[in-house]
Amino acid sequence: MTVLGATGSIGQSTLDLIARAPEAYDVVALTGGRNVEQLAKDAIALNADIAVTCFDGCFDALSALLAGTGIEVAAGDAAVIEAAGRPADWTMSAIIGAAGLPPGLRAMENGGTLALANKESLVTAGPLLLATAKAHGATILPVDSEHSAVFQALVGEDLAAVERVIITASGGAFRDWPIEELANATLEQASSHPNWDMGQRITIDSASMFNKAMELIETKEFFGVAPSMIETIIHPESMIHAMVGFTDGALMAHVGPPDMRHAIGYALHWPERGHVPVERLDLAQLGQLTFRAPDDARYPALALARRVMEQGGLSGAVFNAAKERALDGFIDGRIGFVTMASVVERVMDNMSSDISPQNATLTLEDIEQADHLARVRADECMAQ
Ligand code: NAD
Ligand code: MG
Repeated sequence: MTVLGATGSIGQSTLDLIARAPEAYDVVALTGGRNVEQLAKDAIALNADIAVTCFDGCFDALSALLAGTGIEVAAGDAAVIEAAGRPADWTMSAIIGAAGLPPGLRAMENGGTLALANKESLVTAGPLLLATAKAHGATILPVDSEHSAVFQALVGEDLAAVERVIITASGGAFRDWPIEELANATLEQASSHPNWDMGQRITIDSASMFNKAMELIETKEFFGVAPSMIETIIHPESMIHAMVGFTDGALMAHVGPPDMRHAIGYALHWPERGHVPVERLDLAQLGQLTFRAPDDARYPALALARRVMEQGGLSGAVFNAAKERALDGFIDGRIGFVTMASVVERVMDNMSSDISPQNATLTLEDIEQADHLARVRADECMAQ
């Protein structure tokens, strides 16, 4: 097996599960970024064949840490892709951002299973990802908690009997703030999630609901359901991860504590169920679960997701790249919290004529070009 993005939040949760039964897994490659200490430590503990940092400048530090271990060391984007292409029966795709797409595509060329946490792959390149899996006989298993929940609710079901898919949302850090205060939200406030312990970028995306917006697109792309059948609802306790409604009126809910090791463990043991050490829910103690409708004015990202689902083509790549740059801008203190959505909207407006129709077969090159241009446009927009 291989773990792409091994040093991140999902990567570390994945390694936590693997480390409980190391004899069961043959670790081929682990990849990471600047945290070479963690990467080296895990590569040694799990006896990986190769450890790769995506930063050329981190090569020497990683090499020094792994000297004498016999573990191969490499650095740079191309090295991450090369390592992803080494034969492995199971690959965790847990790099953050559009950078996760090329290594995930490469991993599928060997067949095997791609456990997909990197939602940006589906948002930017859903049809290409699914076509690549089909061409090489690879299996994609969703690792986003909501999509793992939908996937599990669909086991043994006929997609034709699905009426709706409900993706729950915690509502993020600012769900109870007065709307007019959102403009003053600080980086620190946006970086703290009420329920989930995740990487900083996805935590901020949860506060703005860009994360949920991406998950709506992810649902359409992965399960092939019509956008009109996909809903979201605010569920502050984050215990129900998703629900699937069927033609007979049944609503199947997936309930569990907010711990990504459940979705990761499901993908790790699939098609069986393994033993996963997540907390068991005490429903009596929980007492109640609550729900409320999402407020479009508070979460403009949701309308942008609807637009992407209708437009298809390169709109997902443009939306995601503009969002990534706007998020960089917020993290760097160049723009405020609410400006992120307006940057994305303006870039999508500006590039609407570059977004080809739904049915065009898009290549990785088309997607990377649109991604690049959208980043340039987003930077221009933020410089104004
Ligand atoms: P993170 O920021 O904690 O970790 C990201 C990992 O990717 C790190 O190992 C980092 O070194 C690596 N990385 C960053 N930029 C890279 C680049 N340009 N090239 C190669 N590697 C790079 O992120 P995370 O929160 O673990 O999220 C990973 C993915 O999983 C994201 O797509 C996210 O949306 C998705 N996801 C995360 C959670 C969660 O609970 N954290 C839940 C659902 C989905
Ligand atoms: Mg999710």
